[in-house]
Amino acid sequence: MARRSSSSSGDLACSFCGRNARSGVLIIPGPDVNICEECVDICARIISENSPQKKSSDASTLPALKVPPPAEIKEFLDQYIIGHDHTKRMLAVAVHNHYKRLNQPTGGKSDPFADVEIEKSNILLIGPTGCGKTLFARTLARLLDVPFAIADATTITEAGYVGEDVENILLYLLQAADMDVAKAERGIVYIDEIDKIARKTENVSITRDVSGEGVQQALLKILEGVISRVPPQGGRKHPQQEYIAINTRNVLFICGGSFVGLETIVRQREGRQTIGYGEQHKNTRKSTAKDGRPAPLSVQPEDLIRFGLIPEFVGRLPVITSMSEMTEDDLVRILTEPKNCLVRQYQKLLAMGGVSLAFDDDALRGIAKLATQRKTGARGLRAVMEDLMMEIMFEAPSNAKLKDIRITAEMVDALAQDGGTAAARLLA
Ligand code: ADP
Repeated sequence: MARRSSSSSGDLACSFCGRNARSGVLIIPGPDVNICEECVDICARIISENSPQKKSSDASTLPALKVPPPAEIKEFLDQYIIGHDHTKRMLAVAVHNHYKRLNQPTGGKSDPFADVEIEKSNILLIGPTGCGKTLFARTLARLLDVPFAIADATTITEAGYVGEDVENILLYLLQAADMDVAKAERGIVYIDEIDKIARKTENVSITRDVSGEGVQQALLKILEGVISRVPPQGGRKHPQQEYIAINTRNVLFICGGSFVGLETIVRQREGRQTIGYGEQHKNTRKSTAKDGRPAPLSVQPEDLIRFGLIPEFVGRLPVITSMSEMTEDDLVRILTEPKNCLVRQYQKLLAMGGVSLAFDDDALRGIAKLATQRKTGARGLRAVMEDLMMEIMFEAPSNAKLKDIRITAEMVDALAQDGGTAAARLLA
């Protein structure tokens, strides 16, 4: 229980240890309690001993990361991600080199490359929503077993404006690393919606879109590698706050965005006429794959600058790869092929109750068609499956007759026409 001090200054007593000012210690008075300088010291020690930074590993004692060769990285990605072959190859090489750079020995006298510093290769993923950009970043982090954080560029603002400070991105990474700084320093950060912080106009001198450009400026440093001071409680920085220092030199940043309108810029550069960003383009694109799939855009740094990214920012993202829209065939494969595909997830859930679940091929195609109409890429699959399976999952556990469930094309049609209840009514 805190002891109140008397009102006269000589009688001021520390509410924690009871010593008063006459004993020679400095007493700091507060509105209800007072504290002496010695108790302040003790508190500071307790705080520092329990501070999250203390949990940190020493970077030099962390085991070296096992970096698989690019072909193995691609093989791993193939298990979880459908399509995007070119992106997989590019990322496999970029990530392999990035982490090899972390493990590089400090060259001895005989090393002819001793003074060559390998720069890090942050990555820019360009592709429509729901094509798997976040999935790429997450899968790579899982493969390498490094901390992973996702941030949204639209929530970041430059210092002084309402919104999140750039340092909060690093706080998410620290939290993913259980506040272990050394581990966080070799993690992966995915920054989504990076296209939304583009300048709205190419002509800098006439209209400066300060908000977008300011955020790009703020991101520049952490992308490149800087010792950043992160407030452990998040939020805005303030002078009295304690900070955790984190070096972003080895953090791999993967930025992603849909970059609507970029295709027109690329086509203009390539000297071809386009009608606009949308369906029509599919016919004008060069097709490389045997299945007639549109070839990914061949994006150059200058296209991104015209789009509204500042040259310094583009310079920090040396690996640029673009991904095409998911085709209906892709969506069918996404339903059934990846290790944790949706079909297997529902099969597993029902199998726990002794119920088997099968999908007809044309039912899968119907689900993919419905998802395509939602225009949210593969993300639409989950929503369609939820609508389709909800009533069935409700019924199955209490209906002894439902032991072998087969999802047919008619059920998917009924879902499209009249909803999930109508689909469940068709259960055999
Ligand atoms: P984006 O970040 O491009 O908007 P996401 O990576 O968040 O898209 O994709 C949403 C979901 O769709 C993923 O969690 C995954 O289940 C599925 N998905 C998207 N693209 C693919 C793909 N190429 N292969 C397998 N699943 C995919």
